[in-house]
Amino acid sequence: MNYLLPFIAVLIGCLAAFLVKEVSRQRMKLLLAFSGAFLLSAVATEFLPEIYETGDARYGIYLIAGVFVQIILEFFSKGAEHGHLHVHQDVARFPYALFVSLCIHAFLEGMPLQTADGMTYGVAIHKIPIAFIFTGFLVSNKASLWKILLVIGLFSIMSPLGSFIAQHAEFSMDAMLPIKALVAGIVLHVSTTLILESSDGHQFNLAKMLVMLAGAFLAFLL
Ligand SMILES: [Zn+2]
Ligand SMILES: [Zn+2]
Repeated sequence: MNYLLPFIAVLIGCLAAFLVKEVSRQRMKLLLAFSGAFLLSAVATEFLPEIYETGDARYGIYLIAGVFVQIILEFFSKGAEHGHLHVHQDVARFPYALFVSLCIHAFLEGMPLQTADGMTYGVAIHKIPIAFIFTGFLVSNKASLWKILLVIGLFSIMSPLGSFIAQHAEFSMDAMLPIKALVAGIVLHVSTTLILESSDGHQFNLAKMLVMLAGAFLAFLL
């Protein structure tokens, strides 16, 4: 399941992009806010307790490093991980830097997903808007179908590949915890950005508040 969920999520997002041409910005923002709250809750209730259970403050450094890794990745991805595509729609050239950066992000966050827990669901859910937006971008750039399938196919196996390699590298617990802390930093940055950027000038939005509560609660239950 930990391999399948992130993979299926990418396919869902890709398929949705072909079926629904246009999603209102408001709906998209609700999905982004939901996935952000879900991820934040999963990292706070699963990863952080596990990391700090060891009682070692040194893991905090990996967490901060993860935040910076994500900041650097976003120089190249332009925020595609949190539902942005600031690339000019008319560029004919394939955005290699964006794609590679998305793949590195997906690979890294796949590594600590060794069971189908809240974190795996959270990562999977947040892949749906990424795949949706990226496929939409490729379609509007008139990319051929085989190219879209190749690109989305590659992207979809990145997280499962990360999980697979981490599992078979026979990392000891000592090696897995720093990776977990690093990914916790990455996910903290992405989830808070998801929540921040889905809000309109700090106006109270009941629908957004409710989907966020639902996301946070669901991740806590899983
Ligand atoms: Zn952004
Ligand atoms: Zn991610």
